[in-house]
Amino acid sequence: MSLRAPSRRLPFAVAIAVAIAASVSSANGAAPPARDNDPANDVLIDNVRVFDGVRVLPKTRVLVIDGRIAAVGGKAAAPEGIARVDGSGKTLYPGLIDAHAHSWGEAQGDALRFGVTAELDMLGDWNRLPQLRRERESLARTHQADLWSAGAAVTAPGGHGTQYGMKVPTLDKDGDPAAFVAGRIAEGSDYIKIILEDFSAHSETRRIPTITHAQAKAAIDAAHAGQRLAVVHVSRLSDGTAAIEAGADGLVHMFGEPGDDAFVAAAKRQKAFVIPTLSVLGTMAQAGEGAKLVDDAKLSPWLTKEQRDSLKATFGAGEAQPKILADAIANVRALHAAGVDVLAGTDAGNPGTAHGVSMHGELELLTRAGLSPTEALAAATSVPARRFRLADRGRIAPGLRADLVLVDGDPTTDIRASRAIVTVWKNGYAVERKRPAAGETSIPVGEALPAQTVVSDFDAEVVANAAGMLPANFGAGWMSTTDKMAGGASVGQLRRIAGGANGSAGALEVSGEIKPGFAFPWSGAMVFPSKVPMQLADLSSRKDLVFRVRGDGRRYSLMLFHGNQQMPSMQTFETTADWTEVRVPLKNFPGADLSRVRGIAFTAGNPEGAFAFALDDVRIE
Ligand SMILES: [Zn+2]
Repeated sequence: MSLRAPSRRLPFAVAIAVAIAASVSSANGAAPPARDNDPANDVLIDNVRVFDGVRVLPKTRVLVIDGRIAAVGGKAAAPEGIARVDGSGKTLYPGLIDAHAHSWGEAQGDALRFGVTAELDMLGDWNRLPQLRRERESLARTHQADLWSAGAAVTAPGGHGTQYGMKVPTLDKDGDPAAFVAGRIAEGSDYIKIILEDFSAHSETRRIPTITHAQAKAAIDAAHAGQRLAVVHVSRLSDGTAAIEAGADGLVHMFGEPGDDAFVAAAKRQKAFVIPTLSVLGTMAQAGEGAKLVDDAKLSPWLTKEQRDSLKATFGAGEAQPKILADAIANVRALHAAGVDVLAGTDAGNPGTAHGVSMHGELELLTRAGLSPTEALAAATSVPARRFRLADRGRIAPGLRADLVLVDGDPTTDIRASRAIVTVWKNGYAVERKRPAAGETSIPVGEALPAQTVVSDFDAEVVANAAGMLPANFGAGWMSTTDKMAGGASVGQLRRIAGGANGSAGALEVSGEIKPGFAFPWSGAMVFPSKVPMQLADLSSRKDLVFRVRGDGRRYSLMLFHGNQQMPSMQTFETTADWTEVRVPLKNFPGADLSRVRGIAFTAGNPEGAFAFALDDVRIE
């Protein structure tokens, strides 16, 4: 379940300007560009160590003219009056490419601030694909990383990828994979993402629908027939081996279980690549990798509040599973030793990660898997550019786009120096790297709560208003919430009942049925502390969420929706046939931004079946 932050869309007039700029730059073609009279996209970087995407060039110079690299080394005469940068003691590397991201909202701006000049989106809104293409073909000044995207993925009804709150196309059991892939290509997908995921890597008991290996093979063939790469989401060794044997160009995750020789041999033989996404596997392992980035003095000053919150967030309240990350790292080590291409990707957009900054964590994790610092940098520059056919990126060479990062020190021997960013250039323009003030966020603090702490005691009769909500003492009140909004089939209802906790007059009964049809089904009650549903409320002065509950013995979830985070921050609570008081310190919601709370949901999830519980004396103290 999730909230979708609105995707950034350029105003129409700007979109036209970008389109015109793109058509002008492509009209110039391969002919030597006439200088464009704009000195801001020309620069000479001198006396600098260069990692060109493949090799290290000691102490040389890089000349940028009109947003493209004009010369590397040699004595190429720099035009009169060009801006000069002394690179003594510094290293220049190509703009980083995050080969697995999910970009919305501020993502592309966040990425660029940390030297990530391109992201490969692995599941997102396909409506913006034509716009993204125009933007990345332009050499205009921009404050955003460029984006390629899979658009919609090949997944089963109710399968992984359907849970993000947006209606997505799905491939039925007897659907035609070739026609499905043709639909994605018609929408403008830059590559085809295929999802093999039954959830067995994440749960002993839960399973979610997935396409078959035969459907995946047919989708891979269709992608290739349409001149697109086919990349596959897996979280099991068996699926990974099958995908590669079926001709997949690459895997977009490493699985967090031990690999075997047959898998490595297949990847090598088929020349497949792997994007391990060790960053997000670190979140699953609860390894605290994201929090370590927040604490790094080289990175911390450049993080927005949303990024800090996201880096500290987790997937839920489960136990730490260090083996997931350890197994994944061992698998990457074996693949790399066998000569399989490894690409740096973070899965940013997920808890425990943040756009841009997490690439620096991923680089370090890759060195833990046996890549040298230059191999890790190549995994984030020339290797993804080659494998994803990004023609003018990933290297520092004449004619290529001047997407460059200058850092203090030498990341070719100490990978953590990749973080010591001095300047980022995008399309030859030095990026204005704004340092967010401590706690600064792009969205204002939520509305203040009234002095009272009791949200609802349900003692008086309550009647649903026109919007179907049950009023509370403050805020917008209570609403039934189910996975129907995401295409699921679960049902639920709220009802004020007589007889509450401690002999009080009434309580709120929350009941319904969890039904199959959605990857992460839910049904329950949502309460909004602000006057308008889903608007922000400031709970930062409050300590605990307290309520009395009685129920059927199931375990239920609390989901706290906050800021612009897509995933809620979660806790669980138990129920018994007797009323019990539950007190949850608000600070126990991992990574939650308590000054910007949109709503708190009390929900049932799997297993399927009927459920019922009653709430009383709900307080935010
Ligand atoms: Zn992903």
